[in-house]
Amino acid sequence: MSYRAGRHFLQIPGPTNVPDRVLRAIDFPTMDHRGPEFAELGKTVLEGMKRVFRTVGQVVIYPASGTGAWEAALVNTLSPGDAVLMYETGHFAALWQKMALRLGLAPEFLAGDWRSGVDPGAIEQRLRADAEGRVKAVCVVHNETSTGVTSRMAEVRKAMDAARHPALLMVDTISSLASIDYRHDEWGVDVTVAGSQKGLMLPPGLSFNAISDKALAASRAAKLPRAYWNWDEMIASGKSGYFPYTPATNLLYGLREALQMLEEEGLEQVFARHRRHAEATRRAVRAWGLDVLAANPAEYSASLTAVLMPAGHDADRARRVILENFDLSLGTGLGRLAGKVFRIGHLGDFNDLALMGTLAGVEMGLELARVPVRREGVQAAMAYLAECRAKPARAAA
Ligand SMILES: *Cc1c(COP(=O)(O)O)cnc(C)c1O
Repeated sequence: MSYRAGRHFLQIPGPTNVPDRVLRAIDFPTMDHRGPEFAELGKTVLEGMKRVFRTVGQVVIYPASGTGAWEAALVNTLSPGDAVLMYETGHFAALWQKMALRLGLAPEFLAGDWRSGVDPGAIEQRLRADAEGRVKAVCVVHNETSTGVTSRMAEVRKAMDAARHPALLMVDTISSLASIDYRHDEWGVDVTVAGSQKGLMLPPGLSFNAISDKALAASRAAKLPRAYWNWDEMIASGKSGYFPYTPATNLLYGLREALQMLEEEGLEQVFARHRRHAEATRRAVRAWGLDVLAANPAEYSASLTAVLMPAGHDADRARRVILENFDLSLGTGLGRLAGKVFRIGHLGDFNDLALMGTLAGVEMGLELARVPVRREGVQAAMAYLAECRAKPARAAA
């Protein structure tokens, strides 16, 4: 491989581009995780993560990918054979469901079309039919990264309340936290699952659970075997800023910096920036003459856009042409969407001109791959971004 000048464009929906400030923060000698200095770091990142989750409850941090935090959510709260209600928003929901099966739970998977979010009405109906309270948890993906669809979590909560059902609510926010508005406490979520390598702008390797009091109470009665993932020791050590086993110390340096950056920009501004980039991307897609996969405007994801390929054109071939020519990585179609869509990640440390570079790479690459598109996408996105600068109030809408 020869040297490729300039920065690689990592526009997959996670891992995302790691900002220089975070890379520099990581690049320090690893400290004694039982020493006095560590406690300050541990407390700072745990408190900072509570603000990002919007919770006053417990947060635990695992040295693991997001998949580990999925497992932690299930094994800490449930018992063998427990019924859990899951919703097929796409590939990631299907993987979580498969994990629940492997752990010996009894997931019930409400069918979805891989273009829409969780249907709160379907959740309500199913829970109303469960008068005996057999369903112990509702587990859903907030932002389905395989489809670019964001579910309306506040409405899912309302549906559960309307059904007066006591099930726990567990939500995967791996590709939405710190990119899309999310409120653990306000939305009555019991366990929120998150990861480091998407909106939090870190390399892969950390994952998180935010935990309600109700989930903690459930964990006392839960009987699934758990050791590495056990919340008890994590929470007990976390009170003084420590971890029960060796934490990913250098990633925690990076997390402290990333949290500082999010606070400097302000979470509301971070969310508005993601919405702006998502809208500009959708305008580009339509101006190319293509469609976004997400079916409902109220569920468009602000962190990524899945783009449908015209019939007879392979999305992975186009992705390859784009990578070879422009050093730009796009997300592949996952599961049943393989070859049919490519995904543009516009989350994390990203700005208007980086988005324009990305869209220019896609437009030129689609043409090189002989996908029939109009050369008008970049122009449409640029016009929108310029308009947002001229009329900031409109951009916030
Ligand atoms: C990326 C992602 C995962 C998987 O996380 P890993 O860190 O790869 O284990 C799970 N759910 C969603 C919604 C994701 O975007």
